[in-house]
This record gives sequence, structure tokens and C-alpha cells, in this order.
Amino acid sequence: LSANESELFVRTLFDYDPEQDPAIPCRQAGLRFKRGDILQIVSHRDDTWWQARHYGDRNPRAGVCKSERCVTGISFTTAGLRRSFRLGRRGSGSGSVEENPPESRWRRKEIGGACQAPTYLEVCWPEGVGLSELKRRLLISDPDHFGVPVPHTTREKRNREEEGVEYHFVSRQTFELNIVNHRFIEYGHHRGNYYGTSLDSVRKVTAEGKVCLLDVQPNTIHRLHTAEFKPYVLFVKPPSIGELRFSRRKAKFFATKETKPTKTFREEDFEDMIGSAEAMDSQYGHLFERVLVNGDIVSAFNELRAELRRLETEQPQWIPVEWAG
Ligand code: 5GP
Repeated sequence: LSANESELFVRTLFDYDPEQDPAIPCRQAGLRFKRGDILQIVSHRDDTWWQARHYGDRNPRAGVCKSERCVTGISFTTAGLRRSFRLGRRGSGSGSVEENPPESRWRRKEIGGACQAPTYLEVCWPEGVGLSELKRRLLISDPDHFGVPVPHTTREKRNREEEGVEYHFVSRQTFELNIVNHRFIEYGHHRGNYYGTSLDSVRKVTAEGKVCLLDVQPNTIHRLHTAEFKPYVLFVKPPSIGELRFSRRKAKFFATKETKPTKTFREEDFEDMIGSAEAMDSQYGHLFERVLVNGDIVSAFNELRAELRRLETEQPQWIPVEWAG
């Protein structure tokens, strides 16, 4: 999730050109896409036309595209929307700074069953892989040294949760005031509630003398890219498709030998991971100080630890001129 973003993401399974669509109410407002693009559905309140935008564009313009119902010609009531179009969420995140959007790890959820032609496929960002797993391992490895910010939410506190531990539980009004006052690095909605990570929560971690770990979508880095925070930005990217296939085979082998299978990725997932990592790199590469290839989690983790040790011992380091003085 990220600022103002809906939680429904789809991979398109057909090409769409509004210029060629006689039914569209306003061609200029149409959103052109190619099969395989990832779209964020900004609004699906209208049965026939959705508002969507291309995921990952720096200034993505929302446009109109046909709804699933409109493409298939099948009429669904809201309750009858296929499961694949249930609102889903992207996982990953610093305590889930998700957003960010988020990108390299879109995961196929399910192809809807009932309709004749494939239209859209809901995709999400899987948890427990890649970046958030690295963050988790770092935290466990040295909890006195690393910390994560406590996010804010407007949802009800659950049994056993404590204020300021899992979340800061605040009213909607307080949350919205914080949005207006630009207190959040990012925020999003989930099941009718707001979630977000504030700049103050990062300050709190650093004030405790800890290294604050955050996994953010690249479009939010600018919020932290200041002399105050001096972030070290590391881009964790997937390995080659060959290595991904190999690790899937390895995982299957171990799963049958020892444990239950966990997550299995399909070929399309790998293509999505690599495609979106490339898009991210080309748009935001100038902000990344280091690229870490996450082929195998143990080696990636060891490399990350070594890199952080080097950073903390090697002084001084190069910084942007505007942070100096
Ligand atoms: P839960 O209510 O079950 O604790 O969390 C619901 C969802 O909110 C999870 O997907 C979680 O990752 C997400 N979430 C938690 N903290 C944040 C945050 O700081 N920002 C955003 N955008 N999402 C968050």
C-alpha cells in the first residue's frame, strides 16, 4: 500500500487500446495497456468502467478501462465478483511499508473461474520473501542494534496488542490530520482502515541509537532522502530467471524431503519479478547506493550484514553535497 493507493492490483491478460474502443465514453480519458501490464485499480465502483493506472510510473495518470464485467460480458453482482477480484493486499513492508508498492514480487493469486475469456488477474506482493525476510533476519540477528518503526493505524486494537508496540492506535481524525501535516512517509488503506509509517516513528528508532530498517517503495524514498535521515538505500533485486527456477527446484526437493511445501512460484511470477525490478531500477536507480541480488536468502543476508558492518565502521562516506554542512 502506499499513499492514496487502492489495494487492488491486476495483471492484464489482454491488450486494450481506447482508440479502438467505440464503447468508451471519452477516448482521451482511456487507459491504454498491453497484455501483461500491472495496473492498480483506483476505482471499481462502476460496473462497466474502472479507473486504473499503470503501476510503477513516476507520475501515473489514472485512466478509464473496461471493467472485468464489461470485457467478459458477464454480469456480476458486487457480492458475486469472482474471488480473484476480491480486494487483496500486497504484502511486504516495514511492518509493512507496502507500498511500496511497491514491485519485483507480484504473485499470481488465482485466475477467475467462470468467464470465457481471461481478462485480469489479481496479483499481490507476497510476504516472507525477499526484502521483508531480510529485514526480519537482520532484526532477529541483533535486536539491540536494529529497529523498525512502529506504524500507525486506525483499526481497533486486538487482544494482546499494546499501544506503541504493534501499532500506534489512533482515531481516523488524528490519522487524517497527520496526513495533512505530511507526517507520514507513506500510508495506505486496508479493509477500511488507515495504516502508515510516520517520520517520527523513524526518529524514535534512531533516537534509541539503533539502525532503523525500512522497506519502502522507491517512490517514497524522497521523504527520507534528507540531511536529517541520511538514508543508505539498498536495492534488493531478484536473480536471473535461471537462478529463480533453480531455487524453486531446490525448494521442492527440500519440501518433499523435510517439510511441507511453502510457496511455489510460477514462471509468470518470475517474469513479473524480473520485469518490475528492471522497471524500478531504471526509474529510481539513481537513488540506490547498492544493489543486492537476492538469489539465495542466506547469502543475501550474509552480504547485507557484511555491507552494514562495513558502512558502520568505514568513515567517512560519500554523501550528497546538499547533506553536508
Ligand atoms: P493488521 O491489521 O493485520 O495488523 O495489518 C493489516 C495490513 O496492514 C497488513 O497487510 C500490514 O502489512 C499493513 N500495514 C501495517 N503497517 C503498515 C504501514 O505502516 N503502512 C502500510 N501501508 N500498511 C501497513
